[in-house]
Amino acid sequence: AFRLASNFMPWRKPELLEGKNSLNKVPKLLSNKGIDRVLVVTDKGITSLGLIDGLLKGLEDSDIEYVLYDQTIPNPTIDNIEEALEQYKAANCQGIIAFGGGSPMDCAKGVGARLARPKKSIPQMKGELKIRKKIPPLIAVPTTAGTGSEATVVAVVSNSKTHEKYAINDMSLIPHYAVLDPLLTMQLPPHITSTTGIDALTHAIEAYIGKSNTSETIAYCEEAVKLIFDNLYEAYTNGSNIDARKNMQRAAYLAGMAFTRAYVGYVHAIAHTLGGFYGVPHGLANAIILPYVLTYYGKSVHKPLAELADIAGIGESADSIEQKAAMFIEAIKDLNQKMNIPAKVTGIIDSDIPLMVERAFKEANPLYPVPQILSRK
Ligand code: NAD
Repeated sequence: AFRLASNFMPWRKPELLEGKNSLNKVPKLLSNKGIDRVLVVTDKGITSLGLIDGLLKGLEDSDIEYVLYDQTIPNPTIDNIEEALEQYKAANCQGIIAFGGGSPMDCAKGVGARLARPKKSIPQMKGELKIRKKIPPLIAVPTTAGTGSEATVVAVVSNSKTHEKYAINDMSLIPHYAVLDPLLTMQLPPHITSTTGIDALTHAIEAYIGKSNTSETIAYCEEAVKLIFDNLYEAYTNGSNIDARKNMQRAAYLAGMAFTRAYVGYVHAIAHTLGGFYGVPHGLANAIILPYVLTYYGKSVHKPLAELADIAGIGESADSIEQKAAMFIEAIKDLNQKMNIPAKVTGIIDSDIPLMVERAFKEANPLYPVPQILSRK
């Protein structure tokens, strides 16, 4: 339904500000648009690092007033959105800057959604195309290289009471501007660099193997997969390599552009369930699950995985498509292992599993092959 409806609505791309110090252009951008009061949405990790100080000083120097909401938690909740919304309204803001990883960006999108449709609650906007009205100007400044939220129609939110984690999808949630400044990811610790990087890889692979590809999304996926295999391990081991950081930022953006048009599949359905039940960080959940689900997709994905292997320079010695696909999956496992990503999720409570399975199946996209180990009874 989303695909059909979206065909009648224009796809937007965020306007990009790219490169070292591109963040410094934000105050002028706001002034040029006549905006002099903004809500800045971020999280405590970022404020405690001082990563946001340059932006805040730039706003002050340009006489732009701001209110700062820094209580966003990983897997942001409806409560986060409502608190930030109150601050926006109390200060009579005219726009939003989302500064952080996917969590602050999605929290900011949630605020935008509530402002566009004040009579609808967040749960009422769950699913597809429940907003269809412009949100205030939204500038997304990613500080992780993973989610691609700076380019997507999605806000993923969690309900802290029911443990549900779900998506709100609407064209209006595509940020108006995305700032890809590699200096902002230089301090990203290795364990977040790795898991968010594999999150971007998951987006690119899932978008590629689904049935909603177009020549545009295929090109985004291919470039993203190559960039990730060429740069993620370097960014992990040598975080101060600005080229590796820049390339990972671009990969995450491209993978976001791809999956928001061509969707994600079972890896994400399971990862969201783990996030909702146990707060497993999204990138970590995807990274652990990805090789398993790709294996269980079986022969239905051998051809696309072999194509991606060629692009990433993996499996040149393979004798068959099947073998090349297997080598691609092995390369993901190796990369995970080299970056100390565990092979299993721990702490799952057996009695939670039936409800988790139900929720994952409910979310799973019908345009994907069904992993062979799974069957609907
Ligand atoms: P995150 O935003 O939750 O951040 C993780 C941690 O990294 C936080 O503690 C944060 O303080 C820290 N951090 C962020 N940038 C940093 C930096 N530069 N230096 C040091 N520390 C830094 O992590 P994420 O993986 O970017 O986002 C995850 C969320 O995004 C999940 O809720 C997930 O479901 C959602 N998501 C959204 C989309 C979308 O299109 N909207 C896509 C994928 C995932």
